[in-house]
Amino acid sequence: MSYPHRHLLAIEGLYPPAIQHLLDLAENYVSLNRTGKTQRDLLRGRTLINLFFEDSTRTRTSFELAGKRLGADVINMSVASSSVNKGETLLDTAATLNAMHCDLLVVRHGQSGAANLLAQKVGACVINAGDGAHEHPTQALLDALTIRRHKGKLQGLQIAICGDVAHSRVARSNIHLLSAMGARVRVVGPPTLIPGPITRLGVEVSYDMREGLAGADIVMMLRLQRERMSSGLIPSAREYFRFWGLDHEKLAFAKPDALVMHPGPMNRGVEIDSAVADDPVRSLIAEQVEMGVAVRMAVLDTLARNGARHD
Ligand code: ASP
Repeated sequence: MSYPHRHLLAIEGLYPPAIQHLLDLAENYVSLNRTGKTQRDLLRGRTLINLFFEDSTRTRTSFELAGKRLGADVINMSVASSSVNKGETLLDTAATLNAMHCDLLVVRHGQSGAANLLAQKVGACVINAGDGAHEHPTQALLDALTIRRHKGKLQGLQIAICGDVAHSRVARSNIHLLSAMGARVRVVGPPTLIPGPITRLGVEVSYDMREGLAGADIVMMLRLQRERMSSGLIPSAREYFRFWGLDHEKLAFAKPDALVMHPGPMNRGVEIDSAVADDPVRSLIAEQVEMGVAVRMAVLDTLARNGARHD
């Protein structure tokens, strides 16, 4: 079995064939989605619960659409309307979900490890849709699919991941995936937003955009996550943009055919200039969203085949 797991909790620890399997299957779903056809038999009668303890627009909608396109019954539970606000613990929530015999559970939570904990307690297949600053595996998969479609490969590419690496689960998942698939990753940003131990993941570090973007095939910008910062990590937003914000002038430090990505939501004028974000030739940002649906269909399909346990 090329993806031998019941859950998708992190990219770290996945072997390249498992990643390859999900990307190849997602590629089929891109074609299917473009024809407007659906495959509603695949998850017919299965229940998918989207359990979001943190805000999300694109990820939640993307999982909802992916589930519906495969025929699942999709239920969205957001924390504002759930009993977690009434003091229920994560484990109580797990027991409730178990009693409902949900098959696929997509969870986003502010604490690293939350998806892992739930996976130990529920019979459903669990998909981590972002846990604290830890991982966001489907984002890395959709990023990889987007890159592969444009560059024809991942192996040997130079990828610059820029900005608020410290608070970014997107950065962590991408570092694991891209390194596993043979790309070279450099993280670029101010020292206050690049954690020292990141070099243990085998990445290069640069504190300068000119140096950091040199030779890059892909420039991946990260959102400045002010909601996760204590204070004093950055000067003003305007200063941040001056040194770290991607505009066409800084993009020129990368390869002439370098492409730009951002996981969204974007702070325009802070980490990225609108002229770059909306550049139809250089920006892949809209396409990343399209790839997100296909990747999530591939993940749901694969996990549903591997099976939920209702014991
Ligand atoms: N949407 C991504 C996440 O949930 C990136 C971000 O919020 O900046 O991690």
